[in-house]
Amino acid sequence: MKFNLPSIDTPPLGSLSQERLLGLLVDQHGNAIVGAFYETLLQDDEGKTFLSHAAVHDRLSASLLEWLRALFGEKDVRVSKALQDQQRIVGEVHARIKIPIHLVMRGALVIKTRISQLLLEQELATPAMMSAVLLANARVDSAIAFMSSAYEKNATAQARLDEAYRLFSLDQDASIEKEAQRASLMEWSQATLFSLLRKQERAGLARLSDSPFGLWIRHRADFMFGPSTAFQDLLAAMERIDTDLLPRLEAMGQQAEDLGILTELQTCVDHISFLIGELFQTIITLENGRDPLTRTLNRRFMSAILGREIKFASDRKSPLCVILLDIDHFKAINDAHGHQGGDAALRQVAQIIGENVRPCDFIFRYGGEEFLILLAETPIPQARSAAERIRLALATRPVAVGTATVKITASFGIANHAGHPDPDYLVRAADEALYRAKANGRNRIEIAEI
Ligand code: GH3
Ligand code: MG
Ligand code: MG
Repeated sequence: MKFNLPSIDTPPLGSLSQERLLGLLVDQHGNAIVGAFYETLLQDDEGKTFLSHAAVHDRLSASLLEWLRALFGEKDVRVSKALQDQQRIVGEVHARIKIPIHLVMRGALVIKTRISQLLLEQELATPAMMSAVLLANARVDSAIAFMSSAYEKNATAQARLDEAYRLFSLDQDASIEKEAQRASLMEWSQATLFSLLRKQERAGLARLSDSPFGLWIRHRADFMFGPSTAFQDLLAAMERIDTDLLPRLEAMGQQAEDLGILTELQTCVDHISFLIGELFQTIITLENGRDPLTRTLNRRFMSAILGREIKFASDRKSPLCVILLDIDHFKAINDAHGHQGGDAALRQVAQIIGENVRPCDFIFRYGGEEFLILLAETPIPQARSAAERIRLALATRPVAVGTATVKITASFGIANHAGHPDPDYLVRAADEALYRAKANGRNRIEIAEI
């Protein structure tokens, strides 16, 4: 397949710059390259699960073409910060959808091969053709490198979150764990003071990092709190004790200056204990992943759980619906009964929702006065009945706010999972339906058209 020269003014292909040549190639054969990409990846079982949905096909075809245009335009991804940032965003999206990175690599290979074939078919001198192939490969490879670094970062963060959820849904009590670890730190501190008092010779004080507390820090806390600055502070304080304060204490006999170092040691231990409290506080607030006010699930875990349920629904070909609910005119309740009154109303709304769904369903606090309900193995008609039950229960049961009672209504948007792998896609669809429910008069249910 030869290039069509865009106009008679265009110089012969051989005299075009490589960039211009690649730009022309994408202009004229972009759709064929995207087509080859789909054809190859759809033959793969795994590829199929991500790409076969019509909406993915349409959106991805357009954005893949756009990606090719940007990549083979004037700017070189190897030096353009803007292009690099774009690649990182693509990487984040891929990670969110959980497309395996090897599929992304395979897609890149299809694109590179197709471009090389197209270049080979042109009547170009070998050096010109070779350098165009090299440039195309270099640009695709660089783009993928930026993409995969962002992918990895996101996938790791997501895995951490999934695991945090798993850990804290295993009935672990964070308050007890916090106190146990503080006690363990104190035990080490007392044992150290005791050895200091007892020994004339002071070699071999037990290091904090070798104590049970140190082991817990390395193997459990690192996983739970890893990148947070409080945790990094804690590690620095431990390091200071082990590599500075203890060696200084060991080096000295029982002298008056001890008191200064001992005070420093005590301050460091207190600081670590304080940081342990801080770190656990964030987890305790999550209360096993729950929002403290309404006891519904924290939004932080929504994408992990939605992702898992979507995968379950796709694998088993079972239906799945989400309901997005927003309280009507909630501001007015706050205005009339104060923020505390509003809070009380929110708690009762959450309770009413809980009474009208099954134990297997998930209720998330999606926003201030918005809840997202995930209904497993539920098609649209049943989801509509569930929403209708909740709507009626709310509309007919006034809730107590302080000494008064108020009538509350809510609007609902329902979306069903029709194969699209991205949790955000499902939530966005429910959100659009909710928007229509508001626009059409509130206290009503609308179904998304997916
Ligand atoms: P609409 O029917 O259009 O949804 O009207 P609305 O008044 O509910 O409008 P909107 O959703 O914009 O307002 C939500 C309000 O909810 C705004 C915010 O002050 C209040 N809110 C959000 N979170 C909380 C909370 O935790 N407690 C209380 N008391 N109020 C909250
Ligand atoms: Mg709202
Ligand atoms: Mg509202």
